[in-house]
Amino acid sequence: MARFTLCECGNKIPQATKGPMRLKCDACRRHVRKNAIVSLPTNYDVSKAEGKIVDQVRASLVAVNKVDTPEGALALYVAAMLDKGGHTAQGAAALARELRQTMIVVTAGAVSSDDPVDELRRRRNGA
Ligand SMILES: [Zn+2]
Repeated sequence: MARFTLCECGNKIPQATKGPMRLKCDACRRHVRKNAIVSLPTNYDVSKAEGKIVDQVRASLVAVNKVDTPEGALALYVAAMLDKGGHTAQGAAALARELRQTMIVVTAGAVSSDDPVDELRRRRNGA
């Protein structure tokens, strides 16, 4: 009697009685291998990005008042790709590396401010 589990796409995955459990159906496995690149829509609005990693990255960016910077946008974009999932372990590792690097750049030289509005005002006044 064949055992089945459900793939995330809803397809049944026949499970062998021996060996490691298969997590994806054939269609999804092919899909992941051929499309290891995770794509987000063109003109993706990072300010509307949602996800657990995105939330944490955004909180870190807010803390150093760097949300509205190119690096901040890049960090959110990479975080959104990580949250979106569907990439290979290798792809995820590359994204994670990129995110870490970007966060290092973003937080380097950032003036951590208890009040981001005060910080903004100071910079606007050219002080
Ligand atoms: Zn599937």
